[in-house]
Amino acid sequence: MRLSLTVQISAIVKRFPVGSMFPGRTIFQGGSMLPGRKIFPGRHILLVAAGLWLCSALSAQWLRGEIDEGDMAQDLAEALTFRKYPTYEQYLQMMQQFAADHPGICRLDTFGVSVQGRLLLALKISDRVGEDEPEAGFFYTSTMHGDELAGYVLLLRLAAYLLEGYGSDGEVTGLVDSLAIWINPLANPDGTYGPGHDTSVVNSTRENTNGINLNRDFPDPDQHEPNDTAGRAVETRHMMRFMEAQKFTLSANLHSGAEVVNYPWDHTFDLHADDSWYRFVSREYADEARAVDPGYMNLFEDGITNGARWYVIYGGRQDYVNYYLGGREVTLELANDKLLEADRLEEFWEKNQRSLLNYMSQCTYGIRGRVRGSGEGGQIRKSGEEGPLRACITIPGHDSAWSVVYSSPDHGYFYRLIKEGTWDVVVSADGWLSDTVRGVEVTDYRATWLDITLDPIPYPVGPEQSLPGVLLYPNPASRSLFVLPRQTENGPVEVRILTMEGRPLLRHTTHFSGHPLEIPLHPLPDGIFILQMSTGKTLYTMKFLKH
Ligand SMILES: [Zn+2]
Repeated sequence: MRLSLTVQISAIVKRFPVGSMFPGRTIFQGGSMLPGRKIFPGRHILLVAAGLWLCSALSAQWLRGEIDEGDMAQDLAEALTFRKYPTYEQYLQMMQQFAADHPGICRLDTFGVSVQGRLLLALKISDRVGEDEPEAGFFYTSTMHGDELAGYVLLLRLAAYLLEGYGSDGEVTGLVDSLAIWINPLANPDGTYGPGHDTSVVNSTRENTNGINLNRDFPDPDQHEPNDTAGRAVETRHMMRFMEAQKFTLSANLHSGAEVVNYPWDHTFDLHADDSWYRFVSREYADEARAVDPGYMNLFEDGITNGARWYVIYGGRQDYVNYYLGGREVTLELANDKLLEADRLEEFWEKNQRSLLNYMSQCTYGIRGRVRGSGEGGQIRKSGEEGPLRACITIPGHDSAWSVVYSSPDHGYFYRLIKEGTWDVVVSADGWLSDTVRGVEVTDYRATWLDITLDPIPYPVGPEQSLPGVLLYPNPASRSLFVLPRQTENGPVEVRILTMEGRPLLRHTTHFSGHPLEIPLHPLPDGIFILQMSTGKTLYTMKFLKH
């Protein structure tokens, strides 16, 4: 269509203030930025260049927003009105005061120190806060881009709201009683305050002190990066270790620069196995916020978007959490203005308060339960090894390798958020017979509880059975066996089934794409067999029982 590109660009500028089209992200990585719309046809290069020049000129100040020293709180009391930005000192005082005033339900943790020595803090808010209870973990974190300020104050205010409402507000009490809630209002304090500017956020910057964009700094599934912290920013390393230790069931990362809920994936156009659930919770967040202000969150599909369809990024936190940690995380872009004027913080609290609470409630629904081993103490343990095992919870026909969840090795509880429907659930652990629960009914806004008891495999288990890198289920199997590598494996795969004496019986050559491989077993008699899977990089060998 020869529609004038100038008109297109100005229409887009009008709908989405330009600087805010690219919150936290690199501008032209892959794909069109607007769903279903190519806005950069080659023959309009000159017009595009002119448009971009105009955009960048406009974006410099106008789109970043503008604040001055008058937006800073004069003292702690003013900071606690949540209508001004706190100084760094006031921030520390607020966090300490929250914990000191509510010792039964609030604890302050320092999970790291930034490049310039500022504290990376998180509040834990939960009943019996000093204990490690078997509760789903929930995590809100904000302002990893140091100049995206709204979420910083919103999360401080949310913490105060939860602490003050506990015991009197039924919804708050329910959340605090049933979840381990963690809140990190400021993930990049050096970016927000900068060198020698502890008293003001006016000169805040997106990156950390060393110029690193923290939302490009996490291991990336697309680049097949290992899940390790080597070579990453200090702030990233601390955040990775913290999240790995906590194993949150659900989390959200607050940004500004646009007004939209962004759900996985960011690094690929493939849909997440739980795309329908992600759309459901994102829709709920945006709808509730738009009920307060219909002009709010109107980007893309009325305030929600698949990350890659907006634009592809690599090394983002959201995909790291989803892919490497088995968690569920969305990115909440909460304000077009990164430097939101302080006197608008109240307005943004009102728009988001309901949605922030609803999203937390989603962490209490889905399939949840407990996995125990029959016999001694009920723990899933592997013979000859000290620690308890975690069990893998798989939804056959639905899960991919990066959507399965695991039970806690300590207490056996698991939390599988999922859209309503009827699902089969397979629970498996190395050295134990897997269990399949068929026809589990899940209703939105409800939790469905499963009690699972696994029995040890009754035949001798060789050392080759302990393969952390691959999941085999069900075992024993009758019709089909499913194989799912837990590492990043792509490309051709050869699967062979051998007798226990090593005589080959079946051979399959296929292509692994992240989904479980199904191996039909009907040609085999009942008995114990060896499965070998070769991916070119790795050779896996496992035993299974056909019956
Ligand atoms: Zn951002």
